[in-house]
Amino acid sequence: MRLFAKQSQKPPWYAGGLAFECMGCGGCCAGPEEGYVWVKDKEIDAIAAHLNMPVDEMRRRYVRRVGRRQSLIECSPSGDCVFLESDEQGKRQCRVYPVRPAQCRTWPFWAQNVSSPYHWSEAARRCPGINRGSRLHRQEEIETNVRATQE
Ligand code: SF4
Ligand code: SF4
Repeated sequence: MRLFAKQSQKPPWYAGGLAFECMGCGGCCAGPEEGYVWVKDKEIDAIAAHLNMPVDEMRRRYVRRVGRRQSLIECSPSGDCVFLESDEQGKRQCRVYPVRPAQCRTWPFWAQNVSSPYHWSEAARRCPGINRGSRLHRQEEIETNVRATQE
């Protein structure tokens, strides 16, 4: 006889997957309300390599300290991320897209956003790609992204 019954694990609310397809609006990279874009040393190295720039120069031009952490700087007065640029047609895009920080790569699958349907809906008010598109992102992918933001 077992002393303890095995606890049943209730699937998360997003077990059936979540729809997301980036519309390329650039909204999550723009404006003062978007907050910090946290960046780690290895991500700074990767961005510097992508820009073909010495790491020290990359830090001096694009990174600032916030307490014990590091953030990409924002343009003033717009508050846009320093790497958000517009092409000739005015379409906004990330200058360092292939090596963008984990925070950017994992959006919108952040712990807070997937913590409840309410928080997911709140994130959708800011991001038109949430609940859009035919592709359902599976639970495993969602949780891999959440973990990546916590490393
Ligand atoms: S706000 Fe959403 S749809 Fe717009 S660029 Fe960011 S992720 Fe894509
Ligand atoms: S690094 Fe790129 S994806 Fe991340 S906030 Fe800046 S412009 Fe947006």
